[in-house]
Amino acid sequence: MKAFFAEEQKRHDPKAFLSSGAPQPNPEQPERAERLLAGARATGLTIERPRDHGLGPVAAVHTPEYLAFLEHIFARWQRIEGASAEVIPNIHPLARDGAYPASAVGQAGYHMADTACPISAETWQSALWSAWSAVEAAEAVISGAPAAYALCRPPGHHAFADVAGGFCFINNSAVAAQVLRKQAARVAILDVDLHHGNGTQGIFYARPDVLTVSLHADPVRFYPFFWGHADERGEGPGLGYNFNLPLPRKSADAAFLEALGVAFQRIRAFAPDALVVALGLDAFEGDPFGGLSVTTPGFSRIGEAIGKLGLPTVIVQEGGYLCDALGDNLTAFLTGFGGKQR
Ligand SMILES: [Zn+2]
Repeated sequence: MKAFFAEEQKRHDPKAFLSSGAPQPNPEQPERAERLLAGARATGLTIERPRDHGLGPVAAVHTPEYLAFLEHIFARWQRIEGASAEVIPNIHPLARDGAYPASAVGQAGYHMADTACPISAETWQSALWSAWSAVEAAEAVISGAPAAYALCRPPGHHAFADVAGGFCFINNSAVAAQVLRKQAARVAILDVDLHHGNGTQGIFYARPDVLTVSLHADPVRFYPFFWGHADERGEGPGLGYNFNLPLPRKSADAAFLEALGVAFQRIRAFAPDALVVALGLDAFEGDPFGGLSVTTPGFSRIGEAIGKLGLPTVIVQEGGYLCDALGDNLTAFLTGFGGKQR
């Protein structure tokens, strides 16, 4: 299996984060990349640097307004007297179909769902290279590789077409799926991150060509709260092409694997030509977010079960936060999936 990562992805180093209103260190640290690299290498994978793929594959799933915002907002923010060191929103529109604000503060509120995704001088380049890792992995699969792993950091699945959120700026899983669509008539995205993949759901919500399936902690009492419920089924031509499987808090391996079996039924019925796995490792029992209780051997079984689908697969890194087993959990998943052999 090929694996992709660029050093530029470590430059984004967010400081600000609010947890239940209290300032805390931002958990989406560059150190995550080091741990995940070690985990991939322990599987026997060689890490390759992606090429510069330009804006095209990113603009295929994000609006031009939003991409211009991501590229330029930090410089504009610095010109505001007394502004914070990082771009952080403090007001949001109740409806998004009104006038587009001209000011940096207004646009920050328009394009950022929450305070967990502060933008600094390095964010744009890091997010672009993260997306290019996903593009490179998808291109490898199009070229005939049975599977490829993109070590995407910053992560992506909370990013909508024109909104950042939850540590995410560019939706790497959506970018990969859209690249796969060049060859695959139908693509399924299976999101196993602890948190609902609300951005991915939003991007494909009205489309029947990309099935979005997400297993996650029940959002009735967990981030992202406003998305991820079982009654969100898609809309218009996409009705029936979105499938959410919310799990009770602290669900462990058996419950997760049972839900995965239900997800597989839906995926098989969709008969996709290719699969994107949005691989969060934060469903781990020792993850700082503490939402679910999947074990390290559990990740191996999850990887094995997904591998047995036998689909051309792009594995895109999503969440999974600093804890001793972060690298081991990636090794477990990739080894279970088929690791170096695939
Ligand atoms: Zn997550």
